[in-house]
Amino acid sequence: MQNIFKCYMCDRNAVSSEHVPPKNLFPEQKDVGKDYRQYLITVPSCEIHNNHKSKDDEFLMVSLAGIFGNNSIGYLHKFTKVNRAIRRTSNRLLDKAFTKRKHYHLKSDNGFLEVIWGTPDHTRLISCFEHIAYGLHYHHLKKCFKGKIKVLLGYLHSEDKSNNNFVQFIKHQAKIDLKDIPKYGANEDVFYYQFSNPDNYGTYLVHMRFYGGIDVYGSFLPEDKQEPYDLGIAIANACDEVIFKVEDKEYRVKNANKPLERNI
Ligand SMILES: [Zn+2]
Repeated sequence: MQNIFKCYMCDRNAVSSEHVPPKNLFPEQKDVGKDYRQYLITVPSCEIHNNHKSKDDEFLMVSLAGIFGNNSIGYLHKFTKVNRAIRRTSNRLLDKAFTKRKHYHLKSDNGFLEVIWGTPDHTRLISCFEHIAYGLHYHHLKKCFKGKIKVLLGYLHSEDKSNNNFVQFIKHQAKIDLKDIPKYGANEDVFYYQFSNPDNYGTYLVHMRFYGGIDVYGSFLPEDKQEPYDLGIAIANACDEVIFKVEDKEYRVKNANKPLERNI
């Protein structure tokens, strides 16, 4: 008798399989001279969660490749497959990935480098990474995750200094927590992940790294665990400003939800 797998995101029966992260993030051999598409991770998926993602995969590819700080594999991918996809859609793909877009040309060792500066579609990015976090959970822990996932994009810089401080704090803390945790992924230059051990509240973290420089974090709060979930945010919401200390560094985070009092 054939085993029927459940979908990696819901309780429906799987009808196909899905790559996590999407296959198109991995460069093709004809473009970079090395096969980065071996031993990719796949998970079973139902019809809804497979079809739903097809457009998102392309969006994510365009959003991530060519980001400043990526390694050379990321750039090669950007200047081959990703640019082909952008040209094919006459820039519509780029328009979807970044609003208020500007192109800059920076001088680098290899000539000029095109850098895109713009406002990414934050909500859609979060949704893409949530799917990847679900998929990695299924693959790594052999069960569908039930509960809440919160995604933090560690590679975006905003104009809000306080928000940047919070991101830097999480990155610093995660680096310490994940120091001795093994990395998984057969093509580390393109992608690897790490799962932290659960903390006292039962929350655990997945760290996803793309192209050697893009860090994304997903924290899992299982439905059978109690709040407080994300203690840092809970504290930040209660005060005007919080100072997080990690080793000898301090990160000042203002509460964005609390309007500043003004003297009239
Ligand atoms: Zn599903």
